[in-house]
Amino acid sequence: MRASVKEKAIAAGFAMFRATGVHKLAKFARGSGVILMFHHVRPWVERDFAPNRLLEITPEFLDTVLETLRSEGFDIVTLDEAVRRLAGGGEGPPFAALTFDDGYRDNLEHALPVLHRHEAPFTLYVATGFADRSARLWWVELEEAIRRLDRIELDVDGLKLAMPAATGDEKAAAYRSLYWALRSGPEGDMLAAIATLAKRAGVDGGAIAEELCLDWDGLREIAADPLCTIGVHTLTHPMLAKHDVEFVRRELAQSRAIIEREIGRPAVHLAYPVGDATSAGPREFALAEELGFKSAVTTRPGMLFADHANHLTALPRLSINGNWQDRTFIEVLLTGAPFALWNRGRRTNVG
Ligand SMILES: [Zn+2]
Repeated sequence: MRASVKEKAIAAGFAMFRATGVHKLAKFARGSGVILMFHHVRPWVERDFAPNRLLEITPEFLDTVLETLRSEGFDIVTLDEAVRRLAGGGEGPPFAALTFDDGYRDNLEHALPVLHRHEAPFTLYVATGFADRSARLWWVELEEAIRRLDRIELDVDGLKLAMPAATGDEKAAAYRSLYWALRSGPEGDMLAAIATLAKRAGVDGGAIAEELCLDWDGLREIAADPLCTIGVHTLTHPMLAKHDVEFVRRELAQSRAIIEREIGRPAVHLAYPVGDATSAGPREFALAEELGFKSAVTTRPGMLFADHANHLTALPRLSINGNWQDRTFIEVLLTGAPFALWNRGRRTNVG
């Protein structure tokens, strides 16, 4: 969730592309289209410790993104239409599909009015465990625990960690090191360690899901909107690649069945939780295809090329990052040039 090395490389690319204007020439990098990734859309509340800020943008910035898409000549299309265009060779004007992960309340309250103003179709990926409050938004629990604690002490798998967390800077450093240390290990250990900290800090995980996520009534309300496609985001939001295949199959198939029952419509588009290479790889891509999903998206950065028609369950996305709420960033990103640089000219990254 923090700016990764990859994101920093992309950020460094911005300055170079903007300075040289080379991105204007690099239309070859843009490909056929793009899938944008959003999380929270809500007014910004100023705070000095906000490690998950990259996962939220303001409604005004969503408006700017949609305006920029239109002025750069993008058609804003449903995921069904994006898949159709890729299968048809990806010719024609560039297209953009908008996707929102996790099923947040603020998507209904703050994003939907903006999407309506632009008549922009979108997909909302639902984790059923967030809707019924049985799954944990562990990255928010970790943030809330560190916000309340002045000092972090943790014994993870025999490794004793002790960090000051009194000031905003100390909290940010503690979040960063704990986040990456825990995320790189087994998921059960990570969840147990965060549960320990949350308990010590008096943070209630269930209350976080209740506060942030739509329940089934709210999901039915947003699903009833003609602009909305409901997609699948698993039962418990796990890093799938860290689990055995039967677990993964259950997460994909059962969440889809629950969503279809609750919403009353087929749900054929999938987003892998977390979605980087440690969370979703070739096994997950094959399983999603086997289970009949029409598309599945990762969080690997990139544009869409005609060849992605052969990799519809391993699609890249462009993350609209709350740390970079600037029209110029969006203009440069939409050229695809930073991704061409980062991916060293490889158009598909599906390994
Ligand atoms: Zn998610």
